[in-house]
Amino acid sequence: MAYLQLKGIEKFFGDHRAIKGIDLSIDQGEFIVFVGPSGCGKSTLLRLIAGLEHIDGGTLHLEDRDITHQPSSKRDLAMVFQSYALYPHMSVFENMSFALKLAKVDPKVIQDKVQRAADILNLTTYLQRTPKELSGGQRQRVAIGRAIVRAPKVFLFDEPLSNLDAALRGQTRVEIAKLHRDLGATTIYVTHDQVEAMTLADRVVVLRDGVIEQVGTPLELYDHPANQFVAQFIGTPQMNVSPLQQMPALIQQQAPAAAKGGSIGLRPESVVVRQAGQGAIQGQVDLIEALGAETLVYLRTTEGAPLVARQSERTSLTAGDAVTLDIATEHAHWFDNAGRVVPRAAA
Ligand code: ATP
Repeated sequence: MAYLQLKGIEKFFGDHRAIKGIDLSIDQGEFIVFVGPSGCGKSTLLRLIAGLEHIDGGTLHLEDRDITHQPSSKRDLAMVFQSYALYPHMSVFENMSFALKLAKVDPKVIQDKVQRAADILNLTTYLQRTPKELSGGQRQRVAIGRAIVRAPKVFLFDEPLSNLDAALRGQTRVEIAKLHRDLGATTIYVTHDQVEAMTLADRVVVLRDGVIEQVGTPLELYDHPANQFVAQFIGTPQMNVSPLQQMPALIQQQAPAAAKGGSIGLRPESVVVRQAGQGAIQGQVDLIEALGAETLVYLRTTEGAPLVARQSERTSLTAGDAVTLDIATEHAHWFDNAGRVVPRAAA
């Protein structure tokens, strides 16, 4: 049986059905990321698991134990919030040791546990400071440390990096990944940032409007999205999705029958810009983004489909230049007119 098992989980806020029958099995030691656009229900689902919101339907089991209606304090889970939620008047040491002190753990054991967590998180020299004497990144590490000392069965993170600037976000993301590797603890992490989801997760759960759209490893979702929503949510720049009628006949002919009134999805690396006259499809450059290691070419086919091409080479092209393109249709994704993926086998 799964370590953490969600079956038919429901949540209503008044008449609003925010979570609509979620089924999910999580294995011990897995790093699961809930991702989705604002309002899709990812924080609510995490709060239901944490016991901070009442579960209105379905069941939640942790190691075979039904914890659906157990109070948060009995669930053996620890949550790290976006807002850190540190006690401002307490030192870092006191913040990190508070839960253990409440549980009347031996002071010597507390000292050892806090020291070990501080070592892991590079906080040893800050133990006597109060939160206001720390940077945002250090505060977030204290919040993580407070969870670590409790040695919970599951770590829950709610957008823990959103208050940090871009550089610190990247750095703290790497620290969280290392921490998971070292502790091997089961972790559920909420973010709206698909890059965080892709880099941290063993499996990503994509949510929309209170339901799961798809669950899979980061590369499964990237390579085999179940529908247009997941296809465009995962990956940056977004997958190009164009109505088939905006593509040249050459491409339209290759579409599976079920995608005829639908669209084609192309990752930016599947669109290859050639010198004028060398590619099969005609187009024009709208914009170039030279990012150093890669170049993004924004262009438009003669039929009107806007496309982004990603290449590792630099370019002398500028806006308005005529180009030709080749499209790697063997890597194309085909969608029907409801946005569902059309399997290649149906071609
Ligand atoms: P965000 O990325 O913006 O935090 P989210 O995916 O975490 O979004 P939730 O906060 O889980 O979304 O909200 C899901 C839905 O439930 C939203 O429509 C939200 O307005 C609603 N909701 C959440 N909390 C409450 C509440 N306490 N009372 C009423 N409605 C709520």
